Amino acid sequence: MIFEQEAEKELGKALIIGAGGVASVVVHKCCQNPDVFEEICIASRTKSKCDALKDKLDGGKTKIQTAQVDADKTEEVIELINSFKPDVVINVALPYQDLTIMDACLATGVHYVDTANYEPPDTAKFEYKWQWAYKEKFEEAGLTALLGSGFDPGVTSVFSAYAQKHYFDEIHTIDIVDVNAGDHGYPFATNFNPEINIREVTANGRYFKDGDWVETPPLSVKKVYDLPEIGPTDIYLMYHEELESLSKNIPGVKQIRFWMSFSERYLTHLKVLENVGMTSIEPIVFEGKEIIPLQFLKALLPDPASLGPRTKGKTNIGCIINGVKDGKPQTYYVYNICDHQECYREVGSQAVSYTTGVPAMIGAMLVMKGIWQKPGVYNVEEFDPDPFMEELNKNGLPWHESFAPTPLD
Ligand code: NDP
Repeated sequence: MIFEQEAEKELGKALIIGAGGVASVVVHKCCQNPDVFEEICIASRTKSKCDALKDKLDGGKTKIQTAQVDADKTEEVIELINSFKPDVVINVALPYQDLTIMDACLATGVHYVDTANYEPPDTAKFEYKWQWAYKEKFEEAGLTALLGSGFDPGVTSVFSAYAQKHYFDEIHTIDIVDVNAGDHGYPFATNFNPEINIREVTANGRYFKDGDWVETPPLSVKKVYDLPEIGPTDIYLMYHEELESLSKNIPGVKQIRFWMSFSERYLTHLKVLENVGMTSIEPIVFEGKEIIPLQFLKALLPDPASLGPRTKGKTNIGCIINGVKDGKPQTYYVYNICDHQECYREVGSQAVSYTTGVPAMIGAMLVMKGIWQKPGVYNVEEFDPDPFMEELNKNGLPWHESFAPTPLD
């Protein structure tokens, strides 16, 4: 009976939830891989954004449908899944929708892929505990939930797993360095969803050391790092969600840190906005109506999806890894360089959306092909990194490696 049902089910259907900067890249990349993605449905809160994407890409081999959905409501997602019958749901809406979409996948028997950990709307936690708690439910349902299939988390996690598999007997330290040397010409704008971005940047820094977490005030630890094709850049220690899963999934690792670049201009604006209370997620009453300052700020800032045509320059994101191979100290640096304008020419988005959307498509592709299918809830570094690394090279995110990078002490 089960076999009959499976035989009737069409293969190669993905439901993409969200129609923002990242979703747009996912849609373009699915359409570039029609052998896997025979049909997609783009569903989001604002249907006109889904229709605009369909209008741009219709006529190719991948069939495209659109739908309106409020993904905060599990019942609506269930209804949509039951009518479209996808093999996988690619969640590129916001982290607030992760659990409702996971619940809908469980109720309908569909695999799940996302790029960011669940966040409760009222507190920024950057923790996987809520999603990891679904492990048994996905195991029992025989479904795969693939968490964090963006760039960071995502590619940087796969880079770490790849280093572990091929170049190290023991990894001692991982430094993830995320540099965006792009310039969009605005005095202040964020490269992806402003609310998520600002919540991340204004949180305390934290890194993993000797089995414990060391906390630092926001953006208080700075270094200058000389990156290929970019040059010396200010980078700041931050907490980032992949540190939590990598500290569990890379056996014996002693230290993991995450560094991100910010321009002086960005930091000055952010400081002022913070000082006047505009980055707060505590609701305030304004003219009789409750508003969240950070959500109001989001409404004032440029839409990240509009930065594409204006942004010039490159991103360089990678991992500097130290450890031991065959009894000798080993250093390995693996990174990707992406050019904002080349991304825009290809898919109409800047590199930050591009570097997130491509790996989201690849994660979904590997799940759909059965290569990365295992009942349960997994972070990307828990699967074999090789097929993912291969697909990065084929789908616009080629990576480079070096065994003698500039040290980062
Ligand atoms: P955008 O804000 O550009 O897009 C979010 C989309 O989700 C919008 O289309 C929005 O609809 C839709 N949405 C929001 N709420 C709902 C809802 N309740 N139901 C249905 N749709 C909804 O964000 P980005 O594209 O920049 O980011 C998408 C995701 O990617 C985020 O989770 C972000 O954290 C993650 N990300 C991950 C990175 C990584 O490397 N791992 C890097 C960058 C981003 P509407 O248009 O109506 O607002």
